[in-house]
Amino acid sequence: PGVTLTEFVIGGAARFGDATALVDGRTGESLTYAELRSAVTAGAAGLAAHGVGPGDVVALMSHNQPSFVVALHAAIAAGAAVTPVNPALTPGEIAKQLRLSGARLLIAAEPVVDNALEVASEVLVLGEHPRARSFTSLFTDGPAPQLDLDPATTVAVLPFSSGTTGIPKGVRLTHRNLVANLAQTRAGWRIGADDVQAAVLPFFHIYGFTIILNSGLLGGAKVVTLPRFELDEYLRTLAAHRVTRAYFAPPMVLALATAPHVEDHDLSSLRFALCGAAPLDVEVTERAERRLGCLIRQGYGMTEASPGTHQVFDDDFPTTPPGSVGRLSPNTEARIVAPGTDADVAPGETGELLIRGPQVMDGYLDDPAATAATITGGWLHTGDLVRADDDGVFWVVDRLKELIKYKGYQVAPAELEAVLLTHPAVLDAAVVGVPHTEGGEAPKAFVVAEGAVGADELMAFVAERVAPYKKVREVEFVERIPKSPTGKILRRLLRT
Ligand code: ATP
Ligand code: MG
Repeated sequence: PGVTLTEFVIGGAARFGDATALVDGRTGESLTYAELRSAVTAGAAGLAAHGVGPGDVVALMSHNQPSFVVALHAAIAAGAAVTPVNPALTPGEIAKQLRLSGARLLIAAEPVVDNALEVASEVLVLGEHPRARSFTSLFTDGPAPQLDLDPATTVAVLPFSSGTTGIPKGVRLTHRNLVANLAQTRAGWRIGADDVQAAVLPFFHIYGFTIILNSGLLGGAKVVTLPRFELDEYLRTLAAHRVTRAYFAPPMVLALATAPHVEDHDLSSLRFALCGAAPLDVEVTERAERRLGCLIRQGYGMTEASPGTHQVFDDDFPTTPPGSVGRLSPNTEARIVAPGTDADVAPGETGELLIRGPQVMDGYLDDPAATAATITGGWLHTGDLVRADDDGVFWVVDRLKELIKYKGYQVAPAELEAVLLTHPAVLDAAVVGVPHTEGGEAPKAFVVAEGAVGADELMAFVAERVAPYKKVREVEFVERIPKSPTGKILRRLLRT
């Protein structure tokens, strides 16, 4: 598709006119589609008059709120690329992202302006602040800038990967990458003007950014934003706004599976619940489904794939096995190879997933060597181990990098975590490999427990359920498991 991201997402907004596009679930502040479109145009014209244009990078640091969407599309419509910044970053970390991305202007939400002012050369505020000019003060009547940019080669968004396995990597996503992925996922999800989407996953991360925000707006849905996940507020919001589509990360599903009072809320409007970003246990899924009264299915993707590659289409929800991540999105190809080789595994066998399609990134930011190592012959090496069945349904086993090598056998931490979570006293768990005299490396579990349960009991519980080489050989009880904002276990923090 030869359109820009903003034309694609906001261009059709006039069709939805006075329907609500965005509403802040906390303050009630809202924007209609017509208002969204005119704010984006006025913002783009204002930014252009302020000197922002093609080749520039604008940083955007905000919690989820309607004005995030206005600022995002205004900057893109002015011709700039937007790098979304996690508002929880420290000034030093913000400075680093500004430096790496080359952003000279930072648009920041009011609560984080002080951090922004410490490190950015120019700050505009979403809201009001005594020391920073407000973004809306730039708004100008007049047409959005007419730009002649090539959607296939122009970077629209420069997100950073989650940093689960190392330092977050800047990812160059072109207009075409993002538009293609929205068109791909939209093919199987009939998101329409009668849909209401709850948007609590952070917009600065590619999952919250695209699935909730752009694909919801594209279909004319109402998008209800929440700045963070707090279970009671979230459930009240689902009920009050009659939310039809919910998007989860695993910790949200875990909270729904274990918290009391979920059934006290009227969640009868919910007809679609998707989870992604990290492995999700089937038993936890089923417990949460019973309480929600709605099926939960998984999708799969990564920042480098804009992000979606696998999805469960609306029509396939009831028949897709829980625990799988569904099928390939349209116009997406996959190979499953023996890790470290270019040889396809036999059908049904596990191997590394490679992906080819129009959603595969242009490359990493300023790192041609990493790009060349990750994309070969158009195939993106995902670093994830998967298998597929005869029907083309895929299962994610774990990340290649996280596998524990016990005496030459390979143990997937996600499998042991899933077993531990079925123990009634276990609230949360994470498994990592630790040095082991006989095995070289062996699984150690970090467990958040409720009530009296001992390490020996948990090790015996796992041993009864898995092959001997997979046994957990050490347990440490902790207060909480360190996780990224989208619920990925930060195993590197547990190893140190
Ligand atoms: P980094 O690349 O910086 O180490 P990251 O890989 O966690 O961090 P993201 O791009 O946010 O950064 O996440 C993509 C990864 O998330 C995938 O490679 C995969 O490991 C994991 N993932 C996504 N969806 C699922 C899923 N449904 N089941 C299991 N894992 C998933
Ligand atoms: Mg990654």
